[in-house]
Amino acid sequence: MQYPFEVQPLPYEYDALEPYLNQEILHYHHDKHYAGYVMKLNELLKNYPNLQNMTLPELLIETYELPNEAKTSIKNQAGGVYNHELYFSCMNHAECEMPTDQLAIAINSSFGSLDQFRAEFASAANSQFGSGYAWLILSDKKLEIIATPNQDTPISPIVTPLLCIDVWEHAYYLQYQNRRSDYVENWFNLINWDFVGARYMSLMKEA
Ligand code: MN
Repeated sequence: MQYPFEVQPLPYEYDALEPYLNQEILHYHHDKHYAGYVMKLNELLKNYPNLQNMTLPELLIETYELPNEAKTSIKNQAGGVYNHELYFSCMNHAECEMPTDQLAIAINSSFGSLDQFRAEFASAANSQFGSGYAWLILSDKKLEIIATPNQDTPISPIVTPLLCIDVWEHAYYLQYQNRRSDYVENWFNLINWDFVGARYMSLMKEA
């Protein structure tokens, strides 16, 4: 996918994540916040025909291609698009879904157990100061948990994000107000482990 980028529909109904995330949040988050990043990114790229054949990951990784005067804006808007598309794809309300197969093994060997993974991930999400994301990334084929501010994206030639949680207030405030940790705790029930596992497997297969 490249310019003009299109708003990807939610991969489920707006009320599919209730009770953990209500449909009011999903409407604002997808239709206003995420769609706003798509619109602003297209607006910026309109002025740069030489960037219009770049994909979203290319815009985020090959930042040396971006003109100095628009580098930060393009990085922020492209990050906003990429991060939200991953965030929405990472969720799906399926009771008791758990990581399976190779991903389950990798989580256990990297973090000790699924519970330990959850504790470390929650800590990264809760302690991110201000707006940002917590991530499970594959870095040089190893799993790591990190947090990033604003719309930064941990993507590079050797790093691919597998899973992220948006901890901007707009992601939870309408339902949880200031209680970010309650949102994070409930969000674990929404992780689409099939999606994350498939992503992991396809990356591990690449040379
Ligand atoms: Mn968001």
